Amino acid sequence: MRRSQLFTKTRKQAPADEVSKNAQLLIRAGFIHKEMAGVYAYLPLGKRVLDNIVQIIREEMNAIGGNEVNLTALQRREPWEASGRWSDEVMDVWFRTKLANGTELGLGATHEEPLTDLMKQFISSYKDLPAYPYQFQTKFRNELRAKSGIMRGREFLMKDLYSFSVNREEHDVFYDRVSDAYDRIWQRLGIGNVTYKTFASGGSFSKYSHEFQTLSDVGEDIIYVHEARKIAINEEVYNDEVLADLGVSRDELIERKAVEVGNIFTLGTKFSDALNLSFVDEQGSTQRVFMGSYGIGPSRLMGLLAEHFSDDRGLVWPENIAPMRVYLVRIGTSDQVVQKADKMYEFLQSKGISVLYDDRNARPGDKFADADLIGLPHRVVVSERLLEQEKIEYTHRASGESLLLTEDALLDKLV
Ligand code: ATP
Ligand code: MG
Repeated sequence: MRRSQLFTKTRKQAPADEVSKNAQLLIRAGFIHKEMAGVYAYLPLGKRVLDNIVQIIREEMNAIGGNEVNLTALQRREPWEASGRWSDEVMDVWFRTKLANGTELGLGATHEEPLTDLMKQFISSYKDLPAYPYQFQTKFRNELRAKSGIMRGREFLMKDLYSFSVNREEHDVFYDRVSDAYDRIWQRLGIGNVTYKTFASGGSFSKYSHEFQTLSDVGEDIIYVHEARKIAINEEVYNDEVLADLGVSRDELIERKAVEVGNIFTLGTKFSDALNLSFVDEQGSTQRVFMGSYGIGPSRLMGLLAEHFSDDRGLVWPENIAPMRVYLVRIGTSDQVVQKADKMYEFLQSKGISVLYDDRNARPGDKFADADLIGLPHRVVVSERLLEQEKIEYTHRASGESLLLTEDALLDKLV
């Protein structure tokens, strides 16, 4: 992509009303636009980052048997009434709306009810199980506080997977597979070392649920970390009982702030009871389907990664998350330089390397500042002076390493 064809611009100052670092950086770099508190639009560079995060999650969900779907954001009242959740007391962050004829609708904050209802069309026998539908969907929640930028949106992207199993044994096996898939996702996103499987409160079918909490000073959750065992306990269940269950003592734990990036939850038959989702087992008797739910927040992750991978000059994207890999800077406007830079742009792309080409007639200092702020992993400079030496200047954003290279040596760096 050429900068001259990218409609977004960078800005020196973040909006005065934006307090979170992730939104400040992402707005300044032109990745997102703040529509109102907790509601953000994703611009071309931001969309590419979010898509990269989504694709990593998608690959890991498909690898454990997930079937991707896309459920509706507008939801009927009846399934929610059946589960007893059509009420502001139970669902405190619910947005609701009405059809012209007065029929009340919900705006999807989560999808247990409509999906359980939908699955009745497809599940009637043990042969139809297990089933693992999942989606990436915009969720709507009337969050009270929205001061964490895209880490807590009123409109945000969620990956929600739901499992439908014949019994608890089958469920438990899948539950652990999701946990392992989640660990692979954190590794691929570069936050594996700071993300802890955390014991949190369960429902009526399981003593605990598990959250995946990433250490961060801006985290809204308090967790107690056991570094050696790579687990943690959420403060909401931090008591003698859980310590005994896990066989750990208080003096082995460190209190930390963290961000919940995902969670896994045993729902049991709560929703299949409420919505009458059953199957006939091998012996011919009717049983309730045993369920679980598994969430991840891709847009929250993008905010977290922006905070985690940044310095005083701007964003520092990891290789597999960055919107493009190379920021190509053209210094000078002579025919020779323009031709050389254009050729370099074509050449890198022909090698499968994605490039943001700063082809604007802007000051070198502005281009370098933009390269730093936008934070692509590699910066390549083509200039008059370098042309004479038949060299290209290469700089690695994360380490600051800077080298004068031939074209071949540059390619070695990038592939
Ligand atoms: P929190 O305690 O942070 O409000 P939650 O328990 O409400 O989270 P779930 O309903 O389980 O979260 O949602 C699944 C995942 O969606 C969370 O683990 C988180 O990554 C993400 N998520 C939840 N709420 C938001 C939000 N308001 N903005 C962005 N991501 C969110
Ligand atoms: Mg919440």
